[in-house]
Amino acid sequence: MLYRKVTKTGDELSILGFGCMRLAQKNDRIDEERAARQIRYAIDHGVNYLDTAWPYHGGEGEPFVGRVLAGGYRERVKLATKLPAWLVHSPADMDRFLDAQLKKLATSQIDYYLLHSLNGTAWDQLAALGVAEFLDRAQADGRIANAGFSFHGLREDFKGIVDAYPWQFCQIQYNYLDEENQAGTEGLKFAAAKCLGVIVMEPLRGGALAASPQPPAVAALWQEAGNRWTPAEWALRWVWNHPEVTVVLSGMNDEAQVEENLEIAADARPGSLTEEEVSLIARVSKKYCEIMKVGCTGCGYCLPCPADVNIPECFALLNAFHTFGQKQQAGLLYVVRMGGVVTGHPGYASQCTQCGDCVQKCPQNLDVPSLLEQVVSEFEGAGLKEREARVRSFFAK
Ligand code: SF4
Ligand code: SF4
Repeated sequence: MLYRKVTKTGDELSILGFGCMRLAQKNDRIDEERAARQIRYAIDHGVNYLDTAWPYHGGEGEPFVGRVLAGGYRERVKLATKLPAWLVHSPADMDRFLDAQLKKLATSQIDYYLLHSLNGTAWDQLAALGVAEFLDRAQADGRIANAGFSFHGLREDFKGIVDAYPWQFCQIQYNYLDEENQAGTEGLKFAAAKCLGVIVMEPLRGGALAASPQPPAVAALWQEAGNRWTPAEWALRWVWNHPEVTVVLSGMNDEAQVEENLEIAADARPGSLTEEEVSLIARVSKKYCEIMKVGCTGCGYCLPCPADVNIPECFALLNAFHTFGQKQQAGLLYVVRMGGVVTGHPGYASQCTQCGDCVQKCPQNLDVPSLLEQVVSEFEGAGLKEREARVRSFFAK
């Protein structure tokens, strides 16, 4: 296992972190025996960063992680969990959640504590409620060691949040398709230049970049390199090739996947990809863009939409649905991201009033309103109410 240092804390973190959002399951519940075996195996082989959160596995994720770490494992890892920002309505809520999380995780201190899933609006709301004072207080009294935030929003908002508090770290979505999306490469470099540790989530874009079979045009490109690595390995090595990245989270739930990731993390050094390899990955990324349903780059220039439609996320999910065949996942994520449970205000495609503002602003010249109609027909038809109920119950716990 390779380790990278968080400049501000001096911690040497394993470049592979264990993400506990999609643990092994049996009968719709965590398969405790199997998931515990996988997590302890990873720790025994050098993983020292574990990431969980309040809503994972319907609220059962944190207590499970607490049980897994009993018996000597807790001392061997840095433990990360997150404040459910969307459930915070008063300063007292912040302390209430943190105290409950310490109990659930059976620990006296959270090593890396994040504000969960920020964008510009969520940050403004938390800031108005005094979250900076809360984080100062929790660090001073030892309930948390380090403060950070996870992010799914626009790049400019990301930079603003980085500059708004003396964070030790942040967590961003980053992979070879998201160089220009959300925080993107610019955000990664910005945060690293300010000495924040950068934890990367979604290195495989929710598994899409490792999907089997790969789209034929993409598979043909990998073949040029003699299929030396699996698509997942190419994607992970691309992220680790960036010296600004500290830890890459992988939501592991399969023994072979744990083994493969551990092997890659043993020699994925920054700058270790050759120019030819980097250029091949760039060609794969370009190919994905060509075959995607919508040529949206996620730049966000079309925002804000007066009707509050989350345009780039709508198109990202339409692409996931068509290009990667992630039908069920995209339908559920559509409600998670657009339903307003997390952000406090819905951003459904059906809210579009066809005003045309976004069309003039889009550098890709996309006919946004008519593409949004496709989003509505894919995601807002049958089963929407049922998906909304599932998501509400997941995040309300
Ligand atoms: S056309 Fe629709 S999506 Fe575009 S800005 Fe107007 S309301 Fe928003
Ligand atoms: S619709 Fe156009 S402006 Fe909006 S995020 Fe996509 S590419 Fe950028």
